[in-house]
Amino acid sequence: MNDLNDLYQEIILDHNKRPRNRRKLEGASLKAEGYNPLCGDRVTIYAKVEDGIVTEVTFEGSGCAISTASASLMTEALKGKTLEQAKEIFEHFHGLVTGNGEESKEGPGLGKLAVFSGVCRFPARVKCATLAWHTANAALHEKDKTVTTE
Ligand code: ZN
Repeated sequence: MNDLNDLYQEIILDHNKRPRNRRKLEGASLKAEGYNPLCGDRVTIYAKVEDGIVTEVTFEGSGCAISTASASLMTEALKGKTLEQAKEIFEHFHGLVTGNGEESKEGPGLGKLAVFSGVCRFPARVKCATLAWHTANAALHEKDKTVTTE
């Protein structure tokens, strides 16, 4: 487990300990559920979209530190963005953690999310880091609202 120490940087620890926006969102217009059977992470994403802008996004769920921190950071990253921007951030983040993306520092709103760049070295953890994102993507953009990483 020593190798994982690199991942557990301060931001991840902080967001795991004190997740932001972890609550059910009353009156959410969009909702999706995700499950990562590999690790047992579960997440439900709630969102409100008005005039094409994500005005609120929250999550509920339980899982490992990576999945919780990722969901927490994601809610901060997506709030206030347009649906288009949300999709771009998702794609950037996905590229970052799978190691397929350009390490573009100009990415839209990645900011703190860059702490997850080390995850690409741990393939089993990639699903933990991306679960909330796939789920939010489904909530915002897709008709099928149940996501599994398998
Ligand atoms: Zn996990």
